Amino acid sequence: MIAYLEQFVSESESNTKLQEEEEDGNNNKKILLCREMELQGSIDFDCNNSASSNFAAACKDFGGLNQSRPLGVIKPVGTDDLVRVIRSVISMTPSSSASSSSNNLTVAVRGNGHSINGQAMTDSNGLVILMREINPQIQILTRNHHNSCSNGGCGGGDVFVDVGGGVLWEDVLLHCYYSSGLAPRSWTDYLGLTVGGTLSNAGISGQAFRYGPQTSNVTELEVVTGKGEIVTCSENQNSELFFGVLGGLGQFGIITRARIVLQPAPHMVRWIRMVYSEFDDFTNDAELLTTRAECGSFDYIEGFVFVNSDDPVNGWSSVPLSPNKPFDKSRIPKTAGPVLYCLEVALPYRNGDNVDTIDKVVSKMIGRLRFIRNLQFELDLSYVEFLLRVKQQEEEAKANGIWDNPHPWLNLLISKKDISGFDQTVFKKILKDGIGGPMLIYPLLKSKWDARTSVVLPEGEIFYLVALLRFHLPMVGPSVQDMITQNQEILQCCTKQGFDYKLYLPHYRSDDQWRSHFGNQWSRFVERKARFDPMAILAPGQKIFSRNS
Ligand code: FAD
Repeated sequence: MIAYLEQFVSESESNTKLQEEEEDGNNNKKILLCREMELQGSIDFDCNNSASSNFAAACKDFGGLNQSRPLGVIKPVGTDDLVRVIRSVISMTPSSSASSSSNNLTVAVRGNGHSINGQAMTDSNGLVILMREINPQIQILTRNHHNSCSNGGCGGGDVFVDVGGGVLWEDVLLHCYYSSGLAPRSWTDYLGLTVGGTLSNAGISGQAFRYGPQTSNVTELEVVTGKGEIVTCSENQNSELFFGVLGGLGQFGIITRARIVLQPAPHMVRWIRMVYSEFDDFTNDAELLTTRAECGSFDYIEGFVFVNSDDPVNGWSSVPLSPNKPFDKSRIPKTAGPVLYCLEVALPYRNGDNVDTIDKVVSKMIGRLRFIRNLQFELDLSYVEFLLRVKQQEEEAKANGIWDNPHPWLNLLISKKDISGFDQTVFKKILKDGIGGPMLIYPLLKSKWDARTSVVLPEGEIFYLVALLRFHLPMVGPSVQDMITQNQEILQCCTKQGFDYKLYLPHYRSDDQWRSHFGNQWSRFVERKARFDPMAILAPGQKIFSRNS
């Protein structure tokens, strides 16, 4: 008994000693960091400081599934501050850190923190850099440029915007549109995301079928690498870094500036939704429009699955675009299954365009499609309103408290050959009652993506984006854990059926899973890491590489 107590006392003493050593080590790190970095901006070590909403924000993300307290949160004022941070973190050797442990400091770059699984976070061994206010400039450049995008569609190529990596897409839109009538060609559905954050993934929305993802619409980047070097890169200059960073999950450098292709923006958009009961009709029509893309036709194509019921969140009422035309359920064929499909397109036009002409163009383009007649919805709205359409939903969700609840989202890229099987097993069975949020599905074309970027895609020219955008409704809907379990069930189902798919905005925990995600591009990814961030200090929240001492 005494021996047991002695062991207990010595264990708890050594635990306390370890904790004290760790705290001492952390305090030493903090002092050294402050001294070595000589930041022009600020560093905050205190999450209990009530003025520090920055610190609190850096401990979580939009997903709300993870909490992690970093060592410090940095608000840099310019690119030089980023260089100072990276170089200080690298140069803090075990002896200079005055800690018994080795130097394991990491740097997590936070755009707008709209990741789901802690990708922009780090633990008490790391610093979070807040990018929102660094380099806020947005500058339009017009010139005969030779750097044209390899995957461009019609229009664009001579006018660009230079924008800081921490700027929100929403601000890019408003600046370009109202100062010059121009706009980028490829968007995300929601624009409260930073340029650096989406370029680190891909940036996909309804325009990607024509112009490629946002990563296909950038001609130049300025990057601070994991070695603390500022590098300008493009297709022809430091190209390995340029393509590595695009879709690179923040692994190779911090995007401080991006040059994005612009084109003349339309004034207006006709937004159209068409309902289908048969999955094959829906996908055939979506693929037809996607592959038939011409200048002057739709420049946005998406789709979604909804529940064939009066469920107020997941059902028929999620389809109409205005109260003027409600959903007429009598139109649904008796043969319809538990879910229905909605194809969503948009036709851009200018203020002076004749409405009759627009009507005729639309009729011609959708006349032969196989949607259920009279289950078609249309709305004319300004281009800016259309692009900011999710902002209105954000405001409503914030007002009723749903926006800040956890979001166990699942995003997949699935090969065309398996999309029908996915519908049969996942939409029609596992998700037949909906998910408490949108279930997006639309086709994309691989030829619009540059294989030199770090993004990995399924096989084949046509693949589908499937986005399960769950909103947690406490008391009413399933628990967050149930939602996570259902996501796992879906992934297991895909694996079991041998579906060819990749996670978009991937999150894995083990080396094997990352290897399998990247497949034959794993060695290229590893080589890029060794070259541009050899100490593996960047983006620890992705959990791909461990910090080298
Ligand atoms: P963060 O979450 O802050 O960061 C994401 C990753 O990028 C982290 O690893 C971070 O370290 C890294 N990173 C951030 N900034 C930089 C930088 N400057 N340089 C290098 N690395 C950096 N995605 C789409 O493609 N299409 C959509 O339509 C879409 N809609 C969305 C709607 C909502 C409401 C939400 C929450 C997300 C949506 N997303 C969409 C996903 C979104 O693109 C990604 O989560 C993106 O990473 C979020 O950008 P962020 O600025 O918040 O990045």
